[in-house]
Amino acid sequence: MTSLWARGGHLTDGRRVDLHLAEGRIAAISPAISPASREEVDLAGFLVLPAPVEPHAHLDKAYTADLVGATGADLSAAVEAWLAYRPTVAEAEIAVRAAIAVRSYVANGVTAVRSHVDVGEDVGLRGLTALCAVRDAVAAECEIQLVAFPSVPLTGTAGANNRALLREALAVGAHIVGGCPARDPDPAGCIAVVLSIAAEAGVPIDLHIDEHLDAEPDTLSLLTDVVIGTGFPHRVVASHCVSLGMATRERAHAVADRLAAAGIAVISLPHTNLYLQGRDHPTVVPRGLTALRILREAGVTVAAGGDNLQDPFNCLGRADPLETAVLLVLAGHDSPEAAYSSISAAARTALGLSSVDIVVGAPAELLAIRAANLRAAIATGSSDRVVVHAGRVIARTETTRHYPTLSPEEVNA
Ligand SMILES: [Zn+2]
Repeated sequence: MTSLWARGGHLTDGRRVDLHLAEGRIAAISPAISPASREEVDLAGFLVLPAPVEPHAHLDKAYTADLVGATGADLSAAVEAWLAYRPTVAEAEIAVRAAIAVRSYVANGVTAVRSHVDVGEDVGLRGLTALCAVRDAVAAECEIQLVAFPSVPLTGTAGANNRALLREALAVGAHIVGGCPARDPDPAGCIAVVLSIAAEAGVPIDLHIDEHLDAEPDTLSLLTDVVIGTGFPHRVVASHCVSLGMATRERAHAVADRLAAAGIAVISLPHTNLYLQGRDHPTVVPRGLTALRILREAGVTVAAGGDNLQDPFNCLGRADPLETAVLLVLAGHDSPEAAYSSISAAARTALGLSSVDIVVGAPAELLAIRAANLRAAIATGSSDRVVVHAGRVIARTETTRHYPTLSPEEVNA
């Protein structure tokens, strides 16, 4: 393992420090005065933060917006367009697009990604095989978790092949069971199948939950009841939970208390849900976000991710968790600190990753960004970033801005 001095950056409390990184961890923190050494990176002017995480991506769909079309669609139309395109996708093409996406996340500071990957009769396990290869290829830069995302239905006779493919996906490389119970003809049955297959394989679950504005179907309550009722022993994540954001305060508090009791983490996906939801509301447009603050107050782990990256479900996206943080602050009324926690500490908790703080002994997973403080880092989203994974610098971006019409005196004025 390498050893590295990351010098002269400042922390959120204002201290300027030198960090000694060794054996993949922060080995020492000292005031920023240490003598020069060859294995060092100069962080003067940079804010040093725990590295962000992308807790919910679809790497197999990344950068397909221009290939699939359907720009400006709602969720049903986006699903329809994607399913029409999916059978034509080659494994090599998925791998190329996914690798570009991962490198974009990494350059922006992400050192761990959880990606859902489509599994179904028309696409087989091609997406999963492609993403397993990408996971191996980028292992030194980024930890990738793969969620098998089965096709609908997962229940009844019609779902037999999808259940078989889901089990096969777990056997060949996925380590988390996904699904979308609200789109299954039997939502409760779908949740039962997911829990049973996950329990049999001994793995966590991460479901797309209630990505709609209506109160029904309420698969969040179904999931919570089953997790509490069965004592399901592995980690459970409910992604989206959009309809909870439309509930009355009383109902949202009650649901949040049950989620906290069940130990279910929620992942909010502001890009996609601001993009997809509420298109039939030309005025008073619903925001499509879950009840962020009520969930946090109840003690629920609330993470946030970018979800779709320039595909039919969101034609924009920069693979930058700071963009997610911007949306949490603007559309969710989070503080910058709560927003950053959702893309870092809370996301790590939801994904079962060890926690990262800037303290001796913590894993050396760091984002250094040219900014005075956390609010400014989120506001500017400066491209000047240094990213450390397992104690090594894995990406560095430096921007140069020219003003050809100004003299040096005017530029520096
Ligand atoms: Zn998703």
